[in-house]
Amino acid sequence: MSYAEVSVNSPIAQRRTFSYAIPPHLEINVGQAVWVPFGDKRLQGIVLELSPHPEVEETREIIGVIEPRPLLSPQQVLLARWISEYYLSPLFDAVALMLPPGFERRTITFISPIPPPDGFDLSSLNAEQKQALELIREKGRLSLGQLGKTLGRKKAQSIVSQLVNKGLAAKSYELEKIRVKPKMVPYLSLAVAKTEAEKEAANLSKAPKQASLLEYLSRQNEPVPWAEARENTKCSKATADALVKKGLARFQEVEVRREPISYKDIVPSPPLTLTSAQKSAFEAIKSGLAGGKAQTFLLHGVTGSGKTEVYLQALAETVKLSKKAIVLVPEIALTPQTIERFAARFPHRVAVLHSKLSLGEQFDEWQRIRNGDFDVVIGSRSAIFAPQPKLGLIVIDEEPEWTYKQQDKSPRYHARDVALKLASLSGATVVLGSATPDIESFYHAQKGDYRLLQLPERVTPYDGSALPKVEIVDMREELKAGNQSLFSRSLFQAIGQATANKEQVILFLNRRGAASFIQCRSCGFVMRCRRCDVPLSYHLTEDRLVCHQCNYNIKVPESCPRCGRRRIKFLGVGTQRLEQEVGYTFPQARLLRWDSDVTKGRYAHDEILSKFRAHRADILIGTQMVAKGLDLPLVTLVGVVSADTAINLPDFRGGERTFQLLSQVAGRAGRGVRGGKVIIQTYAPEHYAIRAAAEHDYAAFYEQEIDYRRQLHNPPFSQLAGLTYSHTNDALCQREAERTKRFLDQEIASQGIAGIELIGPAPAFIHRLRGRFRWQLILRGAELSSFLSPLPLPPGWAVDIDPMGLV
Ligand code: ADP
Ligand code: ZN
Repeated sequence: MSYAEVSVNSPIAQRRTFSYAIPPHLEINVGQAVWVPFGDKRLQGIVLELSPHPEVEETREIIGVIEPRPLLSPQQVLLARWISEYYLSPLFDAVALMLPPGFERRTITFISPIPPPDGFDLSSLNAEQKQALELIREKGRLSLGQLGKTLGRKKAQSIVSQLVNKGLAAKSYELEKIRVKPKMVPYLSLAVAKTEAEKEAANLSKAPKQASLLEYLSRQNEPVPWAEARENTKCSKATADALVKKGLARFQEVEVRREPISYKDIVPSPPLTLTSAQKSAFEAIKSGLAGGKAQTFLLHGVTGSGKTEVYLQALAETVKLSKKAIVLVPEIALTPQTIERFAARFPHRVAVLHSKLSLGEQFDEWQRIRNGDFDVVIGSRSAIFAPQPKLGLIVIDEEPEWTYKQQDKSPRYHARDVALKLASLSGATVVLGSATPDIESFYHAQKGDYRLLQLPERVTPYDGSALPKVEIVDMREELKAGNQSLFSRSLFQAIGQATANKEQVILFLNRRGAASFIQCRSCGFVMRCRRCDVPLSYHLTEDRLVCHQCNYNIKVPESCPRCGRRRIKFLGVGTQRLEQEVGYTFPQARLLRWDSDVTKGRYAHDEILSKFRAHRADILIGTQMVAKGLDLPLVTLVGVVSADTAINLPDFRGGERTFQLLSQVAGRAGRGVRGGKVIIQTYAPEHYAIRAAAEHDYAAFYEQEIDYRRQLHNPPFSQLAGLTYSHTNDALCQREAERTKRFLDQEIASQGIAGIELIGPAPAFIHRLRGRFRWQLILRGAELSSFLSPLPLPPGWAVDIDPMGLV
């Protein structure tokens, strides 16, 4: 008998596997999904290991196989174990990251007949048992649900168990089929012969629209998608309906294959001739790929230096070696513009994984990836878990991006660190690309853990073109000069000039809404979220106060809820308020706002972007969304309305975050031949992050920042772990945090560990979230996962290894 170690889908299982015996009739492999008995339940599990001996004396048997083909590759099995051990997450949570979308769905029980045991007297069965058995034998196999339709649900269940007990029938289980609704698209065609249609069109002089649609249709040889006909003729649905009513045209629904990428407008793009800097970066990656051993490259190149072209050629090289690749981009950058660049180079060989795809689309894409249908899988954070076979290359674009870390639920993994682990398990090459590398990654490159590749110059609009000039404006001086508006004199003038020249402007402000909060002028009362205790933000379009943590929202009170006076005042500025101000100040300019309030729909990002690209707006106002990867040649001015939002966060990464954001925003200007200019407004003009960003000087920023990190013993010179306890009772929360601190202190002392520091407990930066209070402990030291792993922490604690921010 052999045994399997199974990761079971139960909250009780936590970080361990369970041993099951493999019955002789089942063929079990590592990575396979199986049914196992667990207590009195039947649960899903994934086989992580096979062994000749069980871990425990008493084992139960695996019930059955969910799918014969393993769902996880051997490398993914090891990766799941690593994620669970390193990030201290339940093992099945880690496994689940790699399962096909919709895996945890309803199961169906099937009943099949088996030959009766020797000497069994069938006439001993009662009438209902006989009826059920006949039904099952007739069909060969029947689901419990189908049987229930004839016998009644309860009855069917009890009769089936009787038949199973008597050895006359057996149960088996299957996952419910994913219902991928076919995608139907309306097509329009003529309902009459072409000659007749042409005659009718000539008679329709009173309805010219109908006539032109009819003529259009008679020029087609096949039915046309209605969307295409509408686009080409500019006719409305009413026009088409009128033709249908006259019996001249007809609609029909046609099933189309779901293709997340539409190749209709994509022109294949040949590789470009690399500049010398690109070439030496590419050659280094190429030899890494040929070596077939895990190796990491840090590609440091200013925005517009041609990093993407290097990725594309490295991907082509990977394909030449008969290997495949995964490309990670920040969720926000997963726009058609980005996807197009990859799809144009590798037509029909690119899969896209998008959180906005429907479950059916995700499921289809997953299956096709596993079948090896794509050379490149492109997606955000979770695409690192795509079942891409023969992995040779992993590219992570904009590597310091915070969205690569899953912060809100377990496993709290960082896609970069998972990628590095996966690469070491599969011998793949990793390329981390950025204009502003993560301080820790750059440190690793300096130490020689990664190989540093640099593209110091822009290739657009021409090779070696300069980065835009940046002007820092001290807003304190503006106040002294009596200017209380949102715009410094310099920014005001520059906006006026750019719009007069028919150029485009981007205004960046890292805060949504209209006012950051509202306050009563009489008593000072500030409206706060009842559940999260943060100030509510005023949203102009909805005319409501909104909590940016939990979306709780209320009407703006006319009078102060505390003192009853009607003296409510709006303080601070958000994107909505900025839009209003810009509207007053530059009434001729056409405005467009881009923040998460206006991009709730599936295609909103693209709509806004194409509108701006087509120059149907002059000024784009937005939060950090506008900072990412836009390549807009008509933009000659970028204004940072306030650079200070991140500096003041109680977080050791505040400086880094500010530098990254400002550098990214600044990179949006001057991408066309007209050049460009950036104006940064701040109350802290001498801050090192702002100064370095203004001078496009990553090296200067790095030197200063790494020095602070060393002095304060922050990463990369230590590791951090954030422990957050949450509860509806604040006092209880504090007591538990204090108790745990004493407990951890004792552990550190009794194990004689040097170099683990405990910070806190303190209320978390977001003290209250969705009605629960949060207290936090920070551990600073080394090998924190191994230290914390065996320690019992009561439920309610969330552990975040390598937290991004201390929130
Ligand atoms: P990055 O990813 O570093 O921001 P991109 O790869 O987007 O830079 O390159 C910016 C622009 O330069 C793109 O329009 C790209 O097509 C163009 N480009 C990149 N490399 C070359 C090259 N070797 N020759 C000509 N144009 C190039
Ligand atoms: Zn709230």
